[in-house]
Amino acid sequence: MLTKSKNIDGLKKILAPENILTGKEERYIYAQDATNTRKSKRLPDAVVFPGSIEEVQAIVRYANKHHIPIVCRGAGTNLVGACFCDNGGIVMCFSKMNKIININKIDMTATVQPGVVIGELQSQVEAMGLFFPPDPSNLRVSTIGGAIAQSAGGPRTFKYGGTKDYILDLKVVLSDGSIIQTGSNTIKNATGYNLGQLFVGSEGTLGIVVEALVKLIPKPEASQVIMAYFDSVKDAANSVNTILQNRFMPSTLDFMDGNAITTVEKFFNIGLNTEKDALLIIEIDGFECSIDYQRENIIRILNQSGASGIKYSTNEEEAKKIWQGRRASFAATAKLKPDVLTDDVIVSRSNLGKLVKGIKSICDKYNLLVSIVGHVGDGNVHPQIALNLDDEQEYNNYKAAKKEIYKLTVSLGGIISAEHGIGVEKKEFIPKVINGLSIDYMKRVKKVFDPKNILNPGKIFDL
Ligand SMILES: Cc1cc2nc3c(=O)[nH]c(=O)nc-3n(C[C@H](O)[C@H](O)[C@H](O)COP(=O)(O)OP(=O)(O)OC[C@H]3O[C@@H](n4cnc5c(N)ncnc54)[C@H](O)[C@@H]3O)c2cc1C
Repeated sequence: MLTKSKNIDGLKKILAPENILTGKEERYIYAQDATNTRKSKRLPDAVVFPGSIEEVQAIVRYANKHHIPIVCRGAGTNLVGACFCDNGGIVMCFSKMNKIININKIDMTATVQPGVVIGELQSQVEAMGLFFPPDPSNLRVSTIGGAIAQSAGGPRTFKYGGTKDYILDLKVVLSDGSIIQTGSNTIKNATGYNLGQLFVGSEGTLGIVVEALVKLIPKPEASQVIMAYFDSVKDAANSVNTILQNRFMPSTLDFMDGNAITTVEKFFNIGLNTEKDALLIIEIDGFECSIDYQRENIIRILNQSGASGIKYSTNEEEAKKIWQGRRASFAATAKLKPDVLTDDVIVSRSNLGKLVKGIKSICDKYNLLVSIVGHVGDGNVHPQIALNLDDEQEYNNYKAAKKEIYKLTVSLGGIISAEHGIGVEKKEFIPKVINGLSIDYMKRVKKVFDPKNILNPGKIFDL
């Protein structure tokens, strides 16, 4: 049973005054995250900024003793209300535990604190010829702790894997303040249960990641971006299948549908062909000497698959320009109405065309404006729906459409979250996509790690 009135005075004995916020305006800011369907039901009672593992442990012991919820926070960019404080309590913000402790060039690993910004880690390792591929599109702000907790992916997941594939070892503070290590400083580890993967995607509900050892790989020597138009997303997906069957493995295979193309063009005027119903953006990488070979063959396949308007970059500036349209699609859709909501449903690649077509007709039925973008390689679709959340009818239409989109996804053998997670936003849908016994076991796991339910309560499922 969580306490109603939170006794946070004792925190002042653990932390220096500048590392604890209790003012109403300050608490308001940390109650919200990038989710915009609703606001957190309550404010946290305090926001704390630990500077060390020992401080995290002391705060957790205090919270455990007084039954106070703890909501961890990286950059607060998750889209599913995973940082909401509906039960009040303590927001534990990791912006002061943001150091890259070590980069080991020989073993190709990095030891990082949870508040390290992903883009910062990427640029530091890339300067050493190394590569950390996980790439949530907002990598300039999102943190490694948040990416681990949400099992974040991104455009490069198809070839290189997501955050989960780069976790070798975690130091995790448990709900009683004790600390465990989940792995080892080795590439392989078959020693007991894989506890590390249990914390990946657990949204801060099982433990608090205070240090991570991540795997790095050699940075590809060169890359190039190709773009091609198609008459439908289905045709674009078919051409991707042919590219893969011919044993080419691009690092990204992203698409925009016709609405996304038209919307970007309307607001940013970057020269996209609005007559076409799909744009495929393919990035290839590898040794410099392999790039021409990959590009020429992929363009041959694209031509044979009915593509038109094929272009490719010859320098970094041109590569950025090709990506500009895809990156601008969320911002462009946001200009259509006061609000924009996105999702991250996923099906097998062979069902991608059906999913995109189905989402369009569902949104048409409910009179909603939708731009669809996504990662063809993964079968991962991001419908970006523009609406006015203050318009009750429109919001109700959105909720009905969302239900139908999930139903369609499941009927195609897919699942409702590929990379954004569940948080509070999607938890009512979990029983529709995961069998009851599996959910029961998830709840049992939660109770083992957090018997008092103080770690991010009310996320993923209600106990
Ligand atoms: C514009 C935009 C684009 C995006 N694009 C992508 C994308 O391409 N791919 C993708 O996967 N996601 C994407 N996201 C979603 C989001 O960026 C990711 O989920 C991101 O990894 C969250 O990181 P964060 O630091 O903001 O975490 P937060 O939002 O602060 O936290 C996320 C979760 O992690 C928990 N948490 C944070 N730190 C810890 C810790 N140390 N220990 C335990 N739990 C912790 C929090 O309690 C919360 O449950 C996007 C979001 C936006 C706004």
